[in-house]
Amino acid sequence: MARWHSERQTLWEVTGEMVKQGLVAGSSGNASLRLPGDGDGGYVLITPSGRPYRYLAPEDMVVIDMDGGPVEGDLLPSSETAMHLELYKARQDVEAIIHTHSLYASVAAVSGLEIPPIVVEMVIRVGGSVRVAEYAFPSTEELAQNAGHALGDRNAVLLRNHGMVGVGRTSWEALDLCQMVERVAQIFVYSSLLGRALTLPSEIIEMEQELYRMQGLRSGTPRET
Ligand code: 13P
Ligand code: ZN
Repeated sequence: MARWHSERQTLWEVTGEMVKQGLVAGSSGNASLRLPGDGDGGYVLITPSGRPYRYLAPEDMVVIDMDGGPVEGDLLPSSETAMHLELYKARQDVEAIIHTHSLYASVAAVSGLEIPPIVVEMVIRVGGSVRVAEYAFPSTEELAQNAGHALGDRNAVLLRNHGMVGVGRTSWEALDLCQMVERVAQIFVYSSLLGRALTLPSEIIEMEQELYRMQGLRSGTPRET
């Protein structure tokens, strides 16, 4: 009988929502969460590699240690395991990570354009603009390093020519963040097509960044498990 039943259930439900919200299709993207307790340095529950979400069951989620070593599960962990582990190591405040290939975030990522602070709710939840990580081939240590570098202390990052990553205190927070970034990316693309995307006034950005720092990782939704 697989352990971490409720965490498996949560991750599975979140992947269903990722598909329903159109943030991923087929087997693109991946998701993970930090498991409580066990192990030196802890364990991570992550989606298996290359499995279409519609065929996934909670028991298919894979448990790995912080070096990517297998702990529980028959399937291979996501090919972006190095990136997930890099972000958990760099950010102790992060409990869950979602990587999507959502359309408008990918448009910005392909254009190599960071999404500037253009709407009010964005700065307080992302920490500022959504920066673009330098290009690296998917699944590589280089991609992991580039993503970690560009994410810094923010909650979302674009992966150049690839997609985006959102982090949160729970999987549901990370999901809500990915959904918000996708919406902001859409606003950015359309306003740019109209001729200009005005950023928020600088004093508002500074005030919201201060609030973001004061409150730590924050995505505006209540804590859930
Ligand atoms: P996995 O199916 O291995 O998680 O890969 C999907 C992906 O988006 C790679 O960047
Ligand atoms: Zn990807």
